[in-house]
Amino acid sequence: MKPTSPTDFWDSLAAFSNPVPHDVAGALTALGIEVLRELSKPDSTEYLARCPAHLALTGKQDRRPSFSVNGTTGLFHCFSCGYAGPFIQLVEDGLGYHRIEAFQWIARHGVYRTAEEEPPAGRPEETLRINEASLALFTPPPPRACARRSLTPEACRAFGVLWNPEKHRWILPIRHPETGELWGWQEKGKRFFRNYPAGIHKGATLFGDLTWRGETALLLESPLDAVRAHALGIPGAFASFGAHASEAQIRLLKARCKQLVLGLDNDTAGRTSRDRIHTRWRPRGLVMRFLDYSHTTAKDLGDMSDADALTAYGNAHHPWRRRR
Ligand SMILES: [Zn+2]
Repeated sequence: MKPTSPTDFWDSLAAFSNPVPHDVAGALTALGIEVLRELSKPDSTEYLARCPAHLALTGKQDRRPSFSVNGTTGLFHCFSCGYAGPFIQLVEDGLGYHRIEAFQWIARHGVYRTAEEEPPAGRPEETLRINEASLALFTPPPPRACARRSLTPEACRAFGVLWNPEKHRWILPIRHPETGELWGWQEKGKRFFRNYPAGIHKGATLFGDLTWRGETALLLESPLDAVRAHALGIPGAFASFGAHASEAQIRLLKARCKQLVLGLDNDTAGRTSRDRIHTRWRPRGLVMRFLDYSHTTAKDLGDMSDADALTAYGNAHHPWRRRR
């Protein structure tokens, strides 16, 4: 396709880039769009929500929900009013941003795939069969990378964390919650996330030691934060791979502990998700406390000093005791 005007040029560039946040459900929450259901498909997850453009386009609220967003491609579509586009469009419309600002917003949330990493049509990695041998190319994380994130080699071993020595990225295995069978992994670099295979249904499992059973479990968003918690001596740390913890993930946690500390990030998406989980699961007999952020400006456990992280955990409070 040959661009014919500056506008066409930017449009084709944007279409080529199509930046997708690594945590699509969390980004939707941050945009004020509540994920009501998740549909797991062979090569992707679809997030269903009420259509944010419905009222403006039809004069009526969407009650269905008619709006779906693909977790792999970031493309959204309302099958009732026809509102559709790439994820960046949703950011532009939702926040009133220009395209560049919208791009920066997504970049701040961590881009899931970047244009230069986009595999050509055919997605070679999907023809690859995932099994334990798939991890053979990876090594234990080097001591320097561990030290940068205050992780210990022991904690990395306990959580099965590996390293891509060629690209200098963390490898975070994703396994069946009961059998431990390897489903794939998340590869994480600086502001880079990628899931192998692309459509892996992270929401059906948790990151952590799934054989663990005990008194108090801790739910975090990021796998490396769970490893950090373990390195600090905090037992039962798990990660949901993003702000949106699925029903299945909370059920897995409820089966493993008597009490759950919700340690989702201290940002809009994290707090919204935390409050939603509390409202939904308190009546179903799950005792919950909230990780305490009142002494820190960090937005997650991974950004805190050891002392602050232990205080955040030690001072975890009942929801009605303190509101932020
Ligand atoms: Zn609509």
